Amino acid sequence: MRELRQVATGVWVATAQVWTSNTVVVVDDDGAALVVDPGITRAEVDGLVAAVEAHGWRVVAGLSTHPHWDHVLWSPAWGAAPRFAAPRAIAALAGDVERGWAEASATAPGHDRALFGALTPLPTADGAPLGSPVPLGSPVPLGPPAPRGCRVVTHDAHAPGHLALVTRGVLVAGDMLSDVEVPLLDVGPGGDGARAPRDPVADYRAALDALERAVEECEVDVLVPGHGAVAVGREAIARRFADDRAYLRDPDGSRDPRLADAWVAGEHAAQVAFLRSRATG
Ligand SMILES: [Zn+2]
Repeated sequence: MRELRQVATGVWVATAQVWTSNTVVVVDDDGAALVVDPGITRAEVDGLVAAVEAHGWRVVAGLSTHPHWDHVLWSPAWGAAPRFAAPRAIAALAGDVERGWAEASATAPGHDRALFGALTPLPTADGAPLGSPVPLGSPVPLGPPAPRGCRVVTHDAHAPGHLALVTRGVLVAGDMLSDVEVPLLDVGPGGDGARAPRDPVADYRAALDALERAVEECEVDVLVPGHGAVAVGREAIARRFADDRAYLRDPDGSRDPRLADAWVAGEHAAQVAFLRSRATG
């Protein structure tokens, strides 16, 4: 069974050993639970099912922060609950689903193909699905069946239709604002630069701006990144933003300590090569 720790009232976090991935469970007073990015290996997802059951909660919905394979997995035990994602994320995954499933099968075998990336466009509080593209403004309220007090910010940093959840003073950031990963740009599906957005650095900066506004507006004092340590307190959160902005000012010349990790260094080298090719092409 996975260990869940409460970071704010009704907001619980489970951290996996694989890539220090964070799963978030938001629970209403009546036990209705929203699961954000349930985990990577089949054992982790099963362990989360057991932990949710042990708490006496029932999963009413899921939320997928972005269309990368490690964020669109699910458990058959929660099969009937809708799993929400931004429309742009759903479209991006649809165009790349076999590659994603192949990566999932290689790294985390045993998942159910029928559940892989089976996502529903996210509902807003007024019942209308969010249009596309979404302006980078204030967080948009999530409607039922999501627990009360959940809002989302949708942007295009790291992946198309990436969303952050803001609830109860907590920002669930997806693959951004990590203490173990530098900003990872959207350099196209599977690194196919020809299909990358026009200016992924500008997209990333715009998303950081939107998330920073959400921190102010929603009085966020806990930040949960998709991978890495939870940041507690406004100062620690501000440092995450500052570190990511510093990296983006000059990726090529960066001496960011997060580059000490071999995997991060590899991703960094690939995106620096991408940026150089864009600059000369
Ligand atoms: Zn990702």
